[in-house]
Amino acid sequence: MKFLIAAIGLVLVACSTSPKTSQQKDVMNPLLKPWSGPYGGLPPFNLVKVSDFGPALKEAMQSKRNEIKKIAENSEPANFDNTIAAMERTGETLERVKAIYHVWKGNMQTPEFQVIEKEMAPKFAALNDEIYQNSLLFQRIESVHKAKNSKLTDEERRLITLYHDKFIVEGARLKPDEKIKVSAINQKLASLETQFSQNVLGDEDNEAIVVDNKSDLDGLPQGEIDSAAEDANHHGLKGKYRLANTRSSMEPFLSYGNNRALREKAFKLWTARGDLNNQYNNNKVVTEILKLRFERSKLLGFPSFAHWSLASETMAKKPQAAMDLMLKVWGPAVKQVHADVAEMQKIVDAEGGKFKIAPWDYRYYSEKVRKAKFDLDWNLAKPYLQLEQIRKAMFWSAEKLYGIKFAPLKEAPVFHPDVTAYTVSDNDKVIGLWYFDPYARTGKKSGAWMSEYRTQQKMDSKTILPIVSNNSNFIAGKPGEPVLISWDDTNTMLHEFGHAIHGLLSNVQYPSVAGTNVFRDFVEFPSQVNERFILAPEMIKFMINEKGEGIPNDLVAKIKKAEKFNQGFAQVEYLSSAIVDMKLHLTAETVNPVEFEKTVLTEIKMPSEIVMRHRIPQFNHLFSGHDYSAGYYSYLWAQVLSEDAFQAFVETGDYFNPKIAAKLKKHIMSVGNSVDPDVTYKKFRGRGPKIDALLNRYGFPKN
Ligand SMILES: [Zn+2]
Repeated sequence: MKFLIAAIGLVLVACSTSPKTSQQKDVMNPLLKPWSGPYGGLPPFNLVKVSDFGPALKEAMQSKRNEIKKIAENSEPANFDNTIAAMERTGETLERVKAIYHVWKGNMQTPEFQVIEKEMAPKFAALNDEIYQNSLLFQRIESVHKAKNSKLTDEERRLITLYHDKFIVEGARLKPDEKIKVSAINQKLASLETQFSQNVLGDEDNEAIVVDNKSDLDGLPQGEIDSAAEDANHHGLKGKYRLANTRSSMEPFLSYGNNRALREKAFKLWTARGDLNNQYNNNKVVTEILKLRFERSKLLGFPSFAHWSLASETMAKKPQAAMDLMLKVWGPAVKQVHADVAEMQKIVDAEGGKFKIAPWDYRYYSEKVRKAKFDLDWNLAKPYLQLEQIRKAMFWSAEKLYGIKFAPLKEAPVFHPDVTAYTVSDNDKVIGLWYFDPYARTGKKSGAWMSEYRTQQKMDSKTILPIVSNNSNFIAGKPGEPVLISWDDTNTMLHEFGHAIHGLLSNVQYPSVAGTNVFRDFVEFPSQVNERFILAPEMIKFMINEKGEGIPNDLVAKIKKAEKFNQGFAQVEYLSSAIVDMKLHLTAETVNPVEFEKTVLTEIKMPSEIVMRHRIPQFNHLFSGHDYSAGYYSYLWAQVLSEDAFQAFVETGDYFNPKIAAKLKKHIMSVGNSVDPDVTYKKFRGRGPKIDALLNRYGFPKN
């Protein structure tokens, strides 16, 4: 997944702190100071005190408020520079503080921080509303929009349209009393969404499967057993084994743990995150969020939240377009699952197991089928997947495709000793910085994501370099030993790195259309296409074990052969979540999450052996914010693009074809949202996207 910090434009940017305020205080809040150091300044992670966040954010928000007021109340007639460009200049301090704040939110949560987060979330929402509902400001934007000044660049004209549309969708045209209602809803939603994500984290941090006997972990690779022992030790359970209630520790156990009863117990705990009978239960929070989202959409003139959500900043534009695409893939995916389950059942029967494949058996038996059918044991690949080597491979491919080079930046302050920083250069010129935070720890959000600490721009003749980061939850294992990751993790690493490259190669004028600030059903395109290079022969050379021996050719051949295997599971897991998401956000009814989930899954004939990848009470994409609400389909939408784009390389017979790579860099990776995505895709491919490459990739049975 990807973690978008800024929605379009307005949440971004502003100017520095007001000098008056800083003089009044003896010691200026370090979070408010401009970043010092090379490359336009480095984030001062070493100076962060959690107690500074509240005052810094409040002061930075006030600066932004003052800047907006100045623009709105300007007595000069509105033009592009004094209105749209001026908006792009606002919020510089706030963006700096927020960049660091988001690191604590995602990577470094503490109980102290959570209190501040709860206080701040509605304040961010209120500030947003103040901007979007400012009628003087909107009048100016409308008049710039009407003028359609022909002297402006294409990027500037697009920026005007984006601002104009966004203001309308956010309620700029509402009556004053309606504006008050919308704003009250937004603030309530912000609090509820914070509550939601803290609840999921609560169940991940506090719940676990603790095992006394090592034999209960039979089948699990040694590295995972060691990690479970480490984790137990860390939690004061020396001599025991602790499986944390997170994807990174549960998935391996469900794939390899021989103890079926324990698999069932682990599965039930893990898939019940946010749905347990404790203080972290999210069901009521979800009902309330959906109710408020629906109410707001009605006020804004849309039949549902999904309609509202897709109306701006998406390629799909309407829920039905997204639903049509999902259903095109759903039927074949389900068919594939039934065929796969039948094969797994054969193994169970042959082993004398007197049970039907249950959800806690799926991963385990699909591994057995993989072994039987493709003679592929992922654990044999793992010794060749050293984290450090995969990182080198990623760097190598970025250089080969886009000509960019990475070099360690040792002097950069970091927020945890695990984090490393790098400069990124193109033609010997530094174009940005990349930070990497690879390991799981308490207080860190699960999963993997990219985030942006600073957005590229070159307004007013000064170039601002982007700073981006990749974050994941690999298990560190024993100190001093190489960290081995799974094949899935390897793909995830390349995925997040694709987002990072998208941020780093950005070369636009205005920050709100820079880098990954693109339509959300486009944003997964660069990341998904980057995953596809993993099987290039040049990349495989980086897969070596501790002794320096390369991954055996026959193992690689097996991996390639098994590429389409288990795609039924992956797609059903994902699509069921995406369909439930869309339906949740189309309904006008009060939602009981448990009932709703059951009803929709029955309706679409969900195979009983699989559960949604993210069940509703833990579906952070939908409820910890709204970037992916009614938008989980975006991965599939973007995958049509990424598969079709990768096919352009395959067609030339060269994974790293320089001509195609140059086009990808020019038309996709560097333009951000400065060009319409449909238009820029055609420039890259010479035609619109086709779905064929995607369907071929999965290898589903034809209808
Ligand atoms: Zn992503």
